[in-house]
Amino acid sequence: MHKLAHTAVPGSALESVRWPALPGAEGARMLALQYQFALSERWSPAELRAAQFAQLTQLLQHAKTTVPFYRERLAGVAANRALDVAAFERIPLLCRQDIQENFDALVSRALPPDHGGTQEGNTSGSTGRPIRFMATQLTEVFWHAFTLREHLWQRRDFSGKLAAIRARVTPGSSAGWGASTDSAFRTGPSVMCNTEQPIPEQARWLMQENPDYLISVASNVQELARHCGRHRLRPPRLREVRTYGEALHPDARADIRSAWGVPVIDMYSCREAGYLALQCPEHEHYHVQAEGIYLELLDDQGQPCAPGTLGRVVITVLHNFATPLIRYDIGDYAEAGEACDCGRGLPVIRRIVGRVRNMLRLPDGGLRHPRFDEAQFGGIAPVRQFQVVQKTLQDIEVALVVARPLTPAEEDTLRALIIRNLAHPFAVSFVYCDEIPRATGGKFEDFRSEVVT
Ligand SMILES: [Zn+2]
Repeated sequence: MHKLAHTAVPGSALESVRWPALPGAEGARMLALQYQFALSERWSPAELRAAQFAQLTQLLQHAKTTVPFYRERLAGVAANRALDVAAFERIPLLCRQDIQENFDALVSRALPPDHGGTQEGNTSGSTGRPIRFMATQLTEVFWHAFTLREHLWQRRDFSGKLAAIRARVTPGSSAGWGASTDSAFRTGPSVMCNTEQPIPEQARWLMQENPDYLISVASNVQELARHCGRHRLRPPRLREVRTYGEALHPDARADIRSAWGVPVIDMYSCREAGYLALQCPEHEHYHVQAEGIYLELLDDQGQPCAPGTLGRVVITVLHNFATPLIRYDIGDYAEAGEACDCGRGLPVIRRIVGRVRNMLRLPDGGLRHPRFDEAQFGGIAPVRQFQVVQKTLQDIEVALVVARPLTPAEEDTLRALIIRNLAHPFAVSFVYCDEIPRATGGKFEDFRSEVVT
């Protein structure tokens, strides 16, 4: 019996035709998008931008005429004329607070019927400020299409078993990997577990399920890898870890490789906008998903960032006509990258630094993304877990979970290390606790700032 490679040939809707496959309507639509993505990812920046602005013109006219919030905001955008970059860049930024305070005013009064039914979505509120928005069946189609693109980029073996550890999900199993793959390809089974499970239990579950691929929130899977590394737990079939949901910690790839000997493929997405960027198949940096969003990286003056500089991530979602998000400052920082040598013309993000709340604020107004190394803490004192919290522009509080109380000398050494890492003479105090609670979404945060700017 000849077996067709799962990745090479889509599933066929006709029992008697295995190859070339004739997918059903949904699968055909999914593959039609992949065909276009395969072309557009090779376009020049100018070609990409022209296509994006053709779609942006549609979106902005729709928003201006059917979404109350944008009526005045887009008044300067001329009707019946192609949108130019300068006019687009004059549109004020939309912030999270705008979305929170204007849920109704941001919903279209006349959604094109062919965008399908709507559904309310919300963010988990890990920033402490959840937002609500409307999504459509069309935005769902694009979500699935980018998920599938990511699988194809990374050349995954669809016959493998996929394990997912996600926040607030019902544990269970299913025959396929999910809606993004199942409409076009035949896949192996998938199993699901919850990030709220304690790490040792997640480790037991992982060993028992023994998947080919594991996907989870970045900090959760990093903790899990550290635990497994300490206890020499390595699921034998595991060949790749996929991460999402927050900026990858600088040590995450090394921790995961050292525990399980597998690479990490990271994705940059958010609920309200879908996929923003996917890891390049050949490098550890990211390609913006320019077919779904228009992404700007802006410096403090609101100007586009040059490669190598850090800026705020501002996005416009090209296909959500229910709650249009136009020039939305999502509260992340990322570094612009040089053009990629893989042949893809999609813009490059060198690294995603993370949420504004994970940035240190200096008294002179500067912002920095501090980095802490667990091993450094452990080398000074028996520290099991820590969290560094900036309370004011002068004060840092460090929560510690310890095997035994620290001596004053150990506290002093730790204090000096923290001040050195932060590169500023903050007043550092310690608090001891039994456990450091995770943020919503199962995230561990080793640094958090409570200073509001
Ligand atoms: Zn690339």
